[in-house]
Amino acid sequence: MGKFSFFIPVGWGVLFAIAGCVAAMHYVPEYGIYSFLLLPLVIVLLFKQVHPRSTCSLFAEDAVLFDMPTSGGEGKSVVVVGGGISGLSAAKFLIQAGCNVTLLEQREIVGGNNDPYIENGEHHATTVIITLPAQQPHYLRLCRELGIEQTPHDFEDLKGSIVFEDRELNTKMGSGIGGFLKFICREATLKELIDGFIIFYRFYRQFKLRPESTKSVTDVLGKRLVNSTVFTHFYMPWVGINTWCRFEDVEIQPAHVFASFIFEYALTVKIRDKTHKYKEDYWSVLDGRLIHKLRDTLLEDDRYKQHLNTQVGNISRDSDGRLTVHSKGGGSWDCDAVIVATQPVQALPVLGEVAPKILIDELEKWKQMDCYVLFHTDFSDIGNRPWLHQTHRNETTGKYYITNTIKPRMGCLDSKYLITFVYNTENYLDFKAHHMDESTIVKLYEPKLPIFNLENSIDRNTVWREIDSRCTDVFWTQACRSGLQYHNNGIVSAKRVARRVLGHDW
Ligand SMILES: Cc1cc2nc3c(=O)[nH]c(=O)nc-3n(C[C@H](O)[C@H](O)[C@H](O)COP(=O)(O)OP(=O)(O)OC[C@H]3O[C@@H](n4cnc5c(N)ncnc54)[C@H](O)[C@@H]3O)c2cc1C
Repeated sequence: MGKFSFFIPVGWGVLFAIAGCVAAMHYVPEYGIYSFLLLPLVIVLLFKQVHPRSTCSLFAEDAVLFDMPTSGGEGKSVVVVGGGISGLSAAKFLIQAGCNVTLLEQREIVGGNNDPYIENGEHHATTVIITLPAQQPHYLRLCRELGIEQTPHDFEDLKGSIVFEDRELNTKMGSGIGGFLKFICREATLKELIDGFIIFYRFYRQFKLRPESTKSVTDVLGKRLVNSTVFTHFYMPWVGINTWCRFEDVEIQPAHVFASFIFEYALTVKIRDKTHKYKEDYWSVLDGRLIHKLRDTLLEDDRYKQHLNTQVGNISRDSDGRLTVHSKGGGSWDCDAVIVATQPVQALPVLGEVAPKILIDELEKWKQMDCYVLFHTDFSDIGNRPWLHQTHRNETTGKYYITNTIKPRMGCLDSKYLITFVYNTENYLDFKAHHMDESTIVKLYEPKLPIFNLENSIDRNTVWREIDSRCTDVFWTQACRSGLQYHNNGIVSAKRVARRVLGHDW
């Protein structure tokens, strides 16, 4: 019996799957045939186990909550450079442990890429729009601790569109795997379905069943599938826009980074935070409240100082080993430790003189791309839908680019503002000239985005655990340290670095 015990449940699983397909053909004959396409996937799901070094396992590791010290930092002075979610949360954990913290931010407000827009006391989402809180446990815990309730978005109930050259595919976002399958069976051609399923399976395998590897999107899909319409007009505007993958990045973006958006967020394979309460496992709006609450809570503490409009130029170390942080405006701050919480490219000139070589070498693997976020009121394309993903052809370069237009406010179809993301200057100019009414732009944001590539996104926790352990008083952290965990990673990485400042392990 022993050696067959594994095959018995699997055999039953396969039998049930076949029976399910037959039943689907009988009860919904127009779509039932397509359920057979899922059969290989079901069989793989039953046989294959999650690989311990897969991206899926790494996400599980970053979802584990751990306690932060509430003492041990007394008398220690720390400078934090950068007031995005990473810098603010690092400051919070250090203050909580008793440190004196000075935060230096080059802009006139804190918030970084999640730069919130406030009008008449209302917090509007800008560069950052949505989150699935149950998939971001460290983010969710911090929101709960600061008394911020999740505000679900209407994505679940309203159909948005992915625009093909000849038609629009209408679906609800986050409708779950069942809703997703129903939608594609209804709207796609047979060729698109087959290509789409092959792509889906290859990404799934890369995300969950294989160890992270230096395989790019093109390596995993092959040239034919990367050039198929289902990839250029469906996967790229739906997934590529969210993994910061431009068409020119498909050969350098690791397939597991691309896949992680699909299986961690859009069609969630495993819910990470089992303690989620009502609506915390829904798509929710990320507006400015977390940033503002963090800032206000910090400012109430005498041990916290914040200097805005203060751009740090460099950090020096004197012969006694004492650190001084210098702003470009001539200010200087002596301290026991520094945490630089900026984009990698921004950190390099600041850290150059004092950081260990292993950290500098890692930061040099990152390049930066331009992103434009248009805050506008041109509703002509999106109409009454909550979101619209598009692939356009640039009239000057002749190349494809993607955009995402979204109504970021929850539960309000008469949303006042829209946001549209577009990557690269030439595409922003093309979009503005040919796809929207420029006069409706209320505000333009230009966040900088790190480019995930085959050198900086593999087995990241092993890499960063080693780097953090070699840093003694100069540290770097940022949300991009582990691929696509957005705010969760900004916060969990800030926790890990704050623990190191306090003399603890990760
Ligand atoms: C278009 C777009 C959409 C996004 N969508 C989502 C989403 O839906 N969900 C989600 O969870 N995340 C999303 N993100 C990601 C999220 O915005 C980032 O992960 C997060 O803002 C990163 O925070 P951070 O603190 O790590 O870095 P940053 O936000 O980059 O903060 C770094 C800060 O350092 C400051 N700084 C830099 N250099 C210096 C210097 N020399 N001296 C002083 N200060 C300096 C900068 O001004 C900035 O304030 C999105 C990002 C973008 C751009």
